[in-house]
Amino acid sequence: MLGKLAGFDDTIVALATAPGIGAIAVIRLSGKDAVRITNELFPSKNLEAQPTHTLHFGSIVYQGRILDEVVVSLYRGPKSYTGEEVVEISCHGSPYIQQQIIDACVACGARLAKPGEFTQRAFLNGKLDLTQAESVADLIASNSAASHQTAMQQMRGGFSHALKDLREQLITFSSLIELELDFSEEDVAFADRTRLYTLVSAAMTQVQQLIDSFQMGNVIKNGVSTAIVGKPNAGKSTLLNTLLNENRAIVSDIAGTTRDTIEEVLNIGGILFRLIDTAGIRESDDTIESIGVQKTMEKIREAGIVVYLFDVNEMSVEEVQEQVDVFVASGVNYLLIGNKADIRGEEFYASKFAAIPGVLFISAKTHTHIQEVKDALLHKVMSGDVRTGDTIVTNARHYAALQEVMKALRDVKAGMDRQLPGDLLALDIRLCLHWLGEITGEVTNEDRLDYIFSKFCIGK
Ligand code: GDP
Repeated sequence: MLGKLAGFDDTIVALATAPGIGAIAVIRLSGKDAVRITNELFPSKNLEAQPTHTLHFGSIVYQGRILDEVVVSLYRGPKSYTGEEVVEISCHGSPYIQQQIIDACVACGARLAKPGEFTQRAFLNGKLDLTQAESVADLIASNSAASHQTAMQQMRGGFSHALKDLREQLITFSSLIELELDFSEEDVAFADRTRLYTLVSAAMTQVQQLIDSFQMGNVIKNGVSTAIVGKPNAGKSTLLNTLLNENRAIVSDIAGTTRDTIEEVLNIGGILFRLIDTAGIRESDDTIESIGVQKTMEKIREAGIVVYLFDVNEMSVEEVQEQVDVFVASGVNYLLIGNKADIRGEEFYASKFAAIPGVLFISAKTHTHIQEVKDALLHKVMSGDVRTGDTIVTNARHYAALQEVMKALRDVKAGMDRQLPGDLLALDIRLCLHWLGEITGEVTNEDRLDYIFSKFCIGK
């Protein structure tokens, strides 16, 4: 209703990420023409025909010139941050590209947003209340801090090294196979098929790991599903309230939030921790006792992190150990927290539970060591504990390219299984190289191949 009253006719556009150079930048449009405008610049697909909450990979083309390869996220109104049609264009982080895309949007009918205008629209369309609107700024600040950190990790990490290495090896093979083609009438095989097969298999494992690590990207974007479990009266509600008082995050502006299963969202150091089905877990009195019960275990397995809270006075070392064993056996990523340590003092319990490593002793009631809980949660995410792999793919463009690499690798392997001739294999390898180059920034280049070729050329 307010939306109607507010009656926004125009479509606004702005850079949603911090200005400057970053790994990726997001340009956001909101308003009734947001999808139409983006569609005009996105020849790859008809965006107007796409459903809400979908991602689309393609190029932004303006006046016949490709500005960038981007991922477009669609949020059709009213299921969007502002309640209007919203489009987010994730492009490369160069300020030049950002400006070009924004200019193109303006040329197609958008107008530059004023500071806070998206949030203002969200508020006027009844999407946020005023306190929520105010806390958006905090969330944005911390979110970008965390994104920044992963971006840094990505640069430092083995990610690009691993891919470069893989690319080098494939280039060598590609040139060897192509060399064979030059000598086809002599029926020589320079490229060792067995080695190629091994290389491709190893590459597939590696690429799959990278694809899996994209989950980390989702962690940054969508939060970590977290379950706080423990026996009744362990202090779960108390801990939850303590955490929420300081760290409650707004749910309404997080894309794809499934409101029915998520009760609360914590914002700790810029990472969103979504407390999954806490209500359900709190209601069932004997959650942990009946932990064998399929449903509870499913919930726990769904969680990226399980916070297991126990009353240090009520539980014996054996009982806690038993619980730990269950978690370990089912591959649950858990955090052990001994609550009510205020009663006899931390030292007492530290010695009582000395046999169990990694227990944090806290008092939810007196707010003692709550910071340690937050640090531990954050550490789990940052250290990559939450999902496997220490190299991290956060960029949706890289993710899409990796999937293409995987497809091409599969084709190479299948081709070898079917004893395809070298020229066909070479095609698939080149496709791999192309997509790898898309990620590492080295576009497959004939000169390079030629150079390597020349090294093997036997003075023909
Ligand atoms: P839940 O059933 O696990 O959600 O437990 P509650 O949060 O409802 O807490 C159960 C009882 O333990 C309440 O009476 C709390 O006041 C009390 N309690 C919770 N945390 C602490 C603590 O750190 N120290 C002490 N002494 N009591 C606590």
